[in-house]
Amino acid sequence: MNRSTSLRIQRLTAGAVIAAPGVVALAVLAVLGHLDWRAALAGAAVVVAGGGLILWRHFRGVDALAKTASEALRRQQLERRQLEAVVAGNDTILANLPDPLITLDRARRIVRANSAAHALLGAGLVGGDLSTALRNPAVLEAADAVLGGEVARIVEFSLTGRLERFFWAKISDLPGPAPDGTVAILSLHDMTGARRAEKLRADFVANASHELRTPLASLLGFIETLSGPARDDETARVRFLTIMQEQARRMTLLVEDLLSLSRIEMQEHMPPDARADLERVLRGVAGALEMKARDKDMTIEVALDHLPPIIGDRDELAQVFENLIDNAVKYGRAGTAVRVTAGPSPDATERLGRDAVAVAVSDQGEGIAREHLPRLTERFYRIDTARSREMGGTGLGLAIVKHIVNRHRGTLEIASEAGSGSTFAVYLPTASREAAAE
Ligand code: ADP
Repeated sequence: MNRSTSLRIQRLTAGAVIAAPGVVALAVLAVLGHLDWRAALAGAAVVVAGGGLILWRHFRGVDALAKTASEALRRQQLERRQLEAVVAGNDTILANLPDPLITLDRARRIVRANSAAHALLGAGLVGGDLSTALRNPAVLEAADAVLGGEVARIVEFSLTGRLERFFWAKISDLPGPAPDGTVAILSLHDMTGARRAEKLRADFVANASHELRTPLASLLGFIETLSGPARDDETARVRFLTIMQEQARRMTLLVEDLLSLSRIEMQEHMPPDARADLERVLRGVAGALEMKARDKDMTIEVALDHLPPIIGDRDELAQVFENLIDNAVKYGRAGTAVRVTAGPSPDATERLGRDAVAVAVSDQGEGIAREHLPRLTERFYRIDTARSREMGGTGLGLAIVKHIVNRHRGTLEIASEAGSGSTFAVYLPTASREAAAE
């Protein structure tokens, strides 16, 4: 039964209920002879009409009331939809904030956490105490202070892991508790890049000034000699200019390597996201160094085995293998071969805990004594500084290799024995199957 039919039945019933007693009374009076039939009929007509009038007025009121009620309901629904849209909008804003954000209830439990917070601190944060997500005493103390009545606090802290990361955390209270129980908000801001930049700037000045001092001093010496005592000495001028050109070239190489190193270090905590074809990189680098090898009567043998694509920066990977193959040629014995092998490797997979490839660069040179191995990737660490300089080395090549490999979430391993050559192995994670299929 639809609504209007049931309304009609309701109205008829009400009409009957109102009019029936009057009509019955008139009928009884007529039957008992107290009233003439005509008068009784006229009376009944008046009663029914009166009842109808009363009903009409009543239901007009009811209709108006129903109309107002349904209007109010519609308005309520609209407001609710608008509110839901605002809440959904807030959720989207929260989810898309690049900085990790956590909201806390009065008992320091996590009420909400955005995706940046999950990415940094792990899944399943909601419902747990803040200490399960962030075990830093300074942050917990600041949170307690704000929950205890302070308006806001800012603290700096670091997260240790493979690479140390620096953050500042701001904890502020809400003017009143939110419907979900939130009373305070904790936002984190990653300061790692800024801190690294600060330190790199200081290191750069110290290292560069130290390394540049020698060639600069020698350049100044030659300029003085050429403009003074050797002014008219043609032979000396030609000889000195050749040395000066070599010193200037060395300074340029050094500055290029330092800049490259500082740029890589600054990005080290952000892994690359492009796909790279390792085979193309390796063949390109080996091809470019062939001439240099031939000058020492050496060859570069490349043996590649079904290399899957990896997530990496092609230029940075080229820099890694250029440094390693260049070193193998520099420090390998004349007349020998440098071997470059690469392929998927269970060894690499085990080391990195995910599908990985291994690229090994081996030479037949004089090798490296065990005590030097752990320090080879430090900036400016050379086994024989004079020899490295003589061969055009800056002492930064392996430091650059290490930082690029770190940025790619890989590892570098060096195996060598004095007298029998060295192998520099780079392990790099492969692109996941989904990424590879893109
Ligand atoms: P450099 O510019 O001096 O070659 P690197 O950072 O590339 O700087 O290497 C640091 C030091 O490690 C070198 O000075 C050299 O003593 C040693 N080294 C690097 N590669 C080899 C290698 N294949 N064989 C022997 N020693 C090496």
